[in-house]
Amino acid sequence: MKLQEVFDSYKENIMPTYTKVPLVFVKGKGSRLWDIHNNKFLDFFPGWGVGNLGHCHPKVMSAVRDQISKLIFIPNNYYHIPQARLAKEIVYWSYPSKVFFCNSGAEANEGAIKFARKFGKGRYEIITFDNSFHGRTLAALSATGQRKYQNGFEPLVEGFKTVKFNDLEAVKGAITDKTVAIMLELIQGEGGVNVVKKDFILALRKICDEKKLLLIIDEVQTGIGRTGKLFCYQHYGITPDIMTLAKALGAGLPIGCMVVKKDIADTLTAGMHASTFGGGPVICKAALAVLKAVKKEKLLANAHKMGEYLFLLLSALQDRYEVIKEVRGLGLMAGVELNIEGKGIVEKCMQKGLLINCTHEKVLRLMPALNITKKEIDRAISILDEALR
Ligand SMILES: *Cc1c(COP(=O)(O)O)cnc(C)c1O
Repeated sequence: MKLQEVFDSYKENIMPTYTKVPLVFVKGKGSRLWDIHNNKFLDFFPGWGVGNLGHCHPKVMSAVRDQISKLIFIPNNYYHIPQARLAKEIVYWSYPSKVFFCNSGAEANEGAIKFARKFGKGRYEIITFDNSFHGRTLAALSATGQRKYQNGFEPLVEGFKTVKFNDLEAVKGAITDKTVAIMLELIQGEGGVNVVKKDFILALRKICDEKKLLLIIDEVQTGIGRTGKLFCYQHYGITPDIMTLAKALGAGLPIGCMVVKKDIADTLTAGMHASTFGGGPVICKAALAVLKAVKKEKLLANAHKMGEYLFLLLSALQDRYEVIKEVRGLGLMAGVELNIEGKGIVEKCMQKGLLINCTHEKVLRLMPALNITKKEIDRAISILDEALR
């Protein structure tokens, strides 16, 4: 297909649900992408947070190839080895728990919401936060604290109360005898890279313990090393009751996972929840390869170190450009809040061969692969510098 034929087919045949960038990609390797004209791009937002290993990590590719040649799919009423192994790894690296596999972040959050309702035995209210993002399916959308995603889809699912992020009094004021859970991202990704305050999350953990509420932490974007720890909650010395994972876990193959504390995990029993494709053999082999690469290639240490370097350079830009209001984030999850709309800057970067994102209109978001190098960061920052100028 030629470039124009691709655009035409999308226009004719695909529902226009995405704001599109006119680039057609054909190949990726590490932090590099090539388009249909063989133009090379440096990808500082690989797969919307999916590409923590960059594109086409060789260990993931060989794991997938190996599994595909043996068994592609077996339904969840049978057993298979990759799922048994992956569950064991996730539980080992997180906290005493049991997992449920599905196919996306929204689906993992739906699972957590259903779990909370079953656990609540009549208590059903879940407290969520302004500027949160939990997915596009109806309950996850109802949990999301951003009207712009909800407009036109009412009536929303009942039982969500959205309060101000990092505001403890607001949370306390929202708790009733119907409340069963508090659900949040520790760094709000789509909401503008807003980092949770340590005192706040510690206080939420305490409130949840006292009032027997579930603390549901959505690590769909922050999980799998993004912030320099395998899971973001590990920065704060707390443990969630439920954690949800997706994006980077499968290196681009679709997987979601709900991780529930062991002593309550059997709340859902046979027949109560299911997913046809959830945790299939191919995807589990991919995810096993991801976790192995994160450990073996010391990507958490690299994310931490390169994150520090990235923030150093971003702060230096902030000193030089009035237009930068704030630089924030953790590890390799960086937000650069501007005084102006970020769209133009993103476009300029793209023209110069750097792919970044802008969220919440004014926040540039940089989330390079965890194996990013100093040289690649230098290159990205120099392009961003030119774009700002
Ligand atoms: C992307 C995202 C989701 C939704 O994940 P999908 O796989 O698109 O359904 C949910 N929560 C957070 C924090 C996300 O970043």
